[in-house]
Amino acid sequence: MAAKRDYYETLGVPRTASQEDIKKAYRKLARKYHPDVNSGDPKAEEKFKEVNEAYEVLSDTEKKAQYDQFGHAAFDAAHFGGQEGFDFGGFGFDIFGDIFDMFGGRRGRRTERTGPERGPDLKYELEITLEEAAAGVERKIEIMREETCRTCKGKGAAPGTSPTTCPGCGGTGELRHERATPFGRMVNVGVCLQCGGTGQIITEPCRDCGGSGHIRRPRRIKVRVPAGVDTGARLRLAGEGGSGTRGGPPGDLYVFIRVKPHKVFDRDRDNLYTEVNINIAQAALGAVVDVPILNGWAKLTIPEGTQSGARFRLRGKGMPLLRQHGRGDLIVTVRVRTPVGLNSTQRKLLQELGQTLGSGTEGQEGKGFFKKMRDALGK
Ligand SMILES: [Zn+2]
Ligand SMILES: [Zn+2]
Repeated sequence: MAAKRDYYETLGVPRTASQEDIKKAYRKLARKYHPDVNSGDPKAEEKFKEVNEAYEVLSDTEKKAQYDQFGHAAFDAAHFGGQEGFDFGGFGFDIFGDIFDMFGGRRGRRTERTGPERGPDLKYELEITLEEAAAGVERKIEIMREETCRTCKGKGAAPGTSPTTCPGCGGTGELRHERATPFGRMVNVGVCLQCGGTGQIITEPCRDCGGSGHIRRPRRIKVRVPAGVDTGARLRLAGEGGSGTRGGPPGDLYVFIRVKPHKVFDRDRDNLYTEVNINIAQAALGAVVDVPILNGWAKLTIPEGTQSGARFRLRGKGMPLLRQHGRGDLIVTVRVRTPVGLNSTQRKLLQELGQTLGSGTEGQEGKGFFKKMRDALGK
């Protein structure tokens, strides 16, 4: 299958277009490519299908939200099963029309159009620091969302006027063309151009919302992020999504948390990981060193004879557990740094030390090898 064109591109509108703009663009294109004026031109028919499909999605606040979020993938499943799939055919020829007619049912979606519809769920990605994730944080976010127009209460008609039944479709919102073909009766179903599928004509549109009944407005919302959250956590703010249509309830707002990578700490669930460098004297003789923790420093005792790569656990110095008491651990990996740029005294001391340790590597390698074996066997 060829890559599908972006719906906004198909209608020639920007992603920020209002419902009114989308409807206008659709009507213009639908008239241009309508089969009645382009009889037999398969290119125009293809265009007409595309335009209808794009409008089908972008004119529906819920589907539009899904499309904005997931692109065409949002409807992949819908294409292959269920009634939703048929709805995307627009004016496309479908032989199944007959079967639906036999059962006397109209397409599910179309009838729903006249009832209350729940508003779309919205998604917001919130990035916080590791420190904020550890302590919990309250953030104000701003989202753009469709709200019910207060002037017309979502009806789209100017105050004091009311919509009239569409003369084009008699209020059903759709137009059907039938024709006989060698394969049987073909039924063409499409959105009524006069009313855009609503079944009603607004003679005097509300001036504030241009007749759409919705207004896109920014809204500031306080989000309380609990301590211990990690990337991928999802906070649901009930009722803070887009407003419903025809008295339907609003959708929800989902805040997806992303914790920024930290310069000093890596995180694995509740545990934090960091590294400290020590010198060979500290490694050989043992020492107490400062290690960074989330809100300052802690002391770590390095035992004598510590090898590079050794790990130490500082209990309770990791991330707090989400909605529970307790904390994870901080795991510190020690790196022994070979000294560079020695002065003459240091060089002399190390040479003396070197002589006492001997020059062979064989024995030590052997020891290292056996130690590795023991570690591997856990003894
Ligand atoms: Zn209005
Ligand atoms: Zn109509």
